Order: sequence, then structure tokens, then C-alpha cells
Amino acid sequence: MSAVVLPDLDDVRAAAGRVDAYAQHTPLLPVSQPLAAVAEVRLKCDQLQPGGAFKLRGATNALLQLDAQQRRAGVVCASTGNHGRALAMVAAALGVPCTVCMSELVPQNKREAIAALGATLCIGGRSQDEAQLQVEALVRRGMTEIPPFDHAHVIAGQGTLGLELLQDWPEMDTVIVPLSGGGLISGVALALKSLKPSIRVVAVSPRRGAAMAASVQAGKPVEVEELATLADSLGGGIGMHNRYTLAMVQRYVDALVLLDEAAIAAAMRHLFFCESLVTEGAGAAALAVLLDEDLRHLAGIGKQARVAVVLSGRNIGMAHFLRLMTGEEVHDG
Ligand SMILES: *Cc1c(COP(=O)(O)O)cnc(C)c1O
Repeated sequence: MSAVVLPDLDDVRAAAGRVDAYAQHTPLLPVSQPLAAVAEVRLKCDQLQPGGAFKLRGATNALLQLDAQQRRAGVVCASTGNHGRALAMVAAALGVPCTVCMSELVPQNKREAIAALGATLCIGGRSQDEAQLQVEALVRRGMTEIPPFDHAHVIAGQGTLGLELLQDWPEMDTVIVPLSGGGLISGVALALKSLKPSIRVVAVSPRRGAAMAASVQAGKPVEVEELATLADSLGGGIGMHNRYTLAMVQRYVDALVLLDEAAIAAAMRHLFFCESLVTEGAGAAALAVLLDEDLRHLAGIGKQARVAVVLSGRNIGMAHFLRLMTGEEVHDG
């Protein structure tokens, strides 16, 4: 197999030129008291992207680099929801046929949103790895796979979020990013550390199904059991043939914090009640680090820190969201 060339800062800058017409430069907002007393904190509101998640950035950057023949044959992906939705959106805008394969664990609201965008759904299996087998069958029939995270163009696209952060807040010294397959954190950390090497990058994953954390520990991709979590967008493995994101996480991530379900729920509640923001579990997860003294300590974040918190998505069924906000109990088992 040919050597893997990791994306670099020029790739992220080129991505910014492509992504510009489709994605928003999202706001970076200060927080209210008492959170403002914990550190200097700002929220990168990428849950406000069209489609409700940052995934639009990477999907756009990848789709715009396909040639005419590839566009005609169409694109396919396996997705826990938000990548599929973003790919379907950009594909529809560009007139490219799009098929999205997903496991049965993906919530109904996300499935409906993707179907409504005109994409073909293919649902089956209990895990993303099983959905991936369906993708490979379609690739053999000529479609191009745009995977959700382990792809140089997708990583570079997500990295445009990092460029915006530094443009809006050059003084920031820490960023907290939700981590699943690692496309987001790889791109963001690449952009930030290329421009300002002193920046600390903190990753958060749910304790239930932290495949990247287990893989970093093992020094190679490992599978973990896929468990239901409030942060459903952070579920799924990193792929046993991972090419980019494990290496980039190993290179760039300074601390990796695992979250209980209750901490994720607390972050969602905080954002709703104190900042008037609606987020899904994955979208709120990064904030959980700041709400707990032990987690702040683990992440190496003190009072003097200037911390950007990446809010990554807002795609949650409103009935479920309201039950959580009004106190539905959250369990870890
Ligand atoms: C995909 C996703 C993530 C994680 O991104 P990775 O690139 O897989 O690490 C985080 N939050 C939301 C809302 C997502 O959709």
C-alpha cells in the first residue's frame, strides 16, 4: 500500500475557499456567569451550520474535488446521521446522486432528515461496521465513497473551523473538541497547531464506546462494543484500516477526557438553561469538561486559560430533548 500523506495547512486553506459558499462562518460567543468565572470561555457555535452540524464543511470540500465522471456516478457513505445529512445536502445542491448507509441505531429524526433531502437510504445491521460493508458493495458498482472522517479532504474541510477560531480569537490557548472518528479534531488541531503550536487540544468522548481512546492506548485501531449513548453522533468505531485520524490524534491531541452520560446531559442542560442554546449530546459534550472541577484538572485547564469550546451539532428529536431538559433521568448502564 502506498504511504499515507497526511493533509497539511495548505489543504485546509484551500478547503476554506471551497467551503465558503456552502457553510457559515459561525459565531464565537462569550458565556454567561458563573461559567465565565471558571476560565475565559467562548462557544464556537457550529451547531448552527445548515444541516445542524459541522459536517457540511468536510462533505463540501470532498464533493467539490470530484471530477465530472465521479459526480455522475454518485457518492455513498456510512453515517451515524450528521455526515450523511451533510453529504445529502451538498450532493443535492450539486445535482450528484447520493446514497447513505446506516445502522439501526441511528435515530428516526436523522433518517427522515436525510430522506427528505432526496438521498437514497440503506439501513441495516447493528453497527457502523456493518453499514460499511454495504458501502463497499456500492463502490464496486462505481460510486465514490465519501467517508465521515478518515479522508484527507474531509479532514481538511473540518479544519476550516480551526481557521475561523484563530481568526476570531487569536489569543485563545485551548480548544475542546468532541471526538469520535476524529475527522473534526484532526482538521481543527492541524489548522490551529500549524498556526500557533502552543495551543492545547483537548478531546472528549463518551465513556460508552470510546473507540479512539482505546485505539490510542493500544497504538492501533481496536474495536469496542457499540453502546447507546446520549451522544449518539459520537458512536461507531474508527475503522480497522484507519489511515489518517489515529495518526493525527496521536500527534496532536494533548488530553483525552471520557464522559459519563450524566455529564453529557448536564452540558446539554447548561447550554439550554444558561445560554439558550439547543444542542444534541455530541454537540454539548465538549462543554462538560468545564462544568466539572475534576475534568478541568484532567484536561489541564486553569482559571487563566482562554478556552474555545466546539459545539458541534443540534440534531436531536425535540420530544426527547424536552424530556431531558425537564429532568428525565440519565443512566450509564
Ligand atoms: C460527527 C460528529 C462529531 C465527531 O466528529 P468526528 O470527526 O467523527 O470525530 C461530533 N459531533 C457531532 C454533532 C457530529 O455529528
